[in-house]
Amino acid sequence: MTIAVLRLGHRPARDKRVTTHVALAARAFGADAILVSTKDAGLERTVRNLTAKFGGGFEVRTGVPWRETIKGWPGIVVHLTMYGEALEEAIPRIPRDRDLLIVVGAEKVPRAVYDLATLNVSVGNQPHSEVAALAVFLDRWLGGKGLKRAFSGKVRVVPSRRGKVVENLNR
Ligand code: SAM
Repeated sequence: MTIAVLRLGHRPARDKRVTTHVALAARAFGADAILVSTKDAGLERTVRNLTAKFGGGFEVRTGVPWRETIKGWPGIVVHLTMYGEALEEAIPRIPRDRDLLIVVGAEKVPRAVYDLATLNVSVGNQPHSEVAALAVFLDRWLGGKGLKRAFSGKVRVVPSRRGKVVENLNR
């Protein structure tokens, strides 16, 4: 089943770093794609370059109309918000045989998102970060398996107690 993340409200001048981190956390924790509501060719380049080096079939698309994307999504839409129902209660209610779209915001999220989402889910009820909320949600949803996927990139980091060990795989 596909897992995509929809990032709302990205402002290229201000949010480049955080949105890049949303994309990298999505990829590393088990999602298949990031969709960003604002067009940003630089962000697409950054994520594609990283994916080319470290591997995986992760997709990035920007300039995606959020309302149509949510309305037209064929599966379940989970909006992560501090105001939503508790993660622990929501997870068992999310069907596992449907594609999943996870929506995260930047600044104020339009009211319509709360109404269009299948579920509004909170990762604790304190305000924190879209990167943290996404990482915790994906890790709980995939039971840690997202982090353990094989990425088959040009390089592979070898876990090491000290220092940096990187294999060049010449792919
Ligand atoms: N104040 C904004 C609002 O009312 O929509 C939220 C700003 S917050 C910095 C940016 C995003 O982080 C939110 O849209 C949400 O997706 C995510 N987020 C922050 N805290 C969260 C929490 N406790 N649970 C789930 N998502 C959270």
